[in-house]
Amino acid sequence: MTRQALSRKIINTCLEMTRLGLNQGTAGNVSVRYKEGMLITPTGMPYELMTEESIVYVDNNGVYEKGKLPSSEWLFHLAVYQARLDCNAVIHNHAKHCAAVSILEKDIPAIHYMIAVSGTDHIPCVPYATFGTSQLAQYVKEGIKESKAILLSHHGLIAAETNLDKALWLAHEVEILAEWYMKLLATNQPIPLLSKANMVAVLEKFKSYGLRIEEK
Ligand SMILES: [Zn+2]
Repeated sequence: MTRQALSRKIINTCLEMTRLGLNQGTAGNVSVRYKEGMLITPTGMPYELMTEESIVYVDNNGVYEKGKLPSSEWLFHLAVYQARLDCNAVIHNHAKHCAAVSILEKDIPAIHYMIAVSGTDHIPCVPYATFGTSQLAQYVKEGIKESKAILLSHHGLIAAETNLDKALWLAHEVEILAEWYMKLLATNQPIPLLSKANMVAVLEKFKSYGLRIEEK
């Protein structure tokens, strides 16, 4: 895909995130792997005002185009591409329920078989660090190796996938799982979990059956 087409797709993904209720203000940011680096949303610009020219190229060394400013969270986007060669698209947001679980500093355990969309049997919550720092990027790098979706303590969600459509789908699924988990925690009852064996069976089935989210 051309840079222009990928940039358009990034903007459409941001708008779709808003439509799905996954964004709080301009807090979400989106990137795709591109050449020797990535294309990423700019800092502090409302999605409705973005054009293809607003999207910023950042190379693998963190050098970006003159006159443009990438999202303040670009460092962890780059960290994801370095940690996971199988992922070409990254979505970050402060979706309500994901952020709520992250404030409790909890992983989302195997409450439902769809947890396997992460590629593992839980959604890990990585430790807190100030946004935009290399410390946070380091935590992200470790966490994302384990799972394609991670929570950032007292912050939000990162979802990484092979393309933007799948990443958006993953972000939406994890927000639903987080909502269920918050509701379950609110009952103050012990929460029954699926066993390791049950989750292994689902993970195997997802591998062969696949969750086919085709690129639009
Ligand atoms: Zn953020």
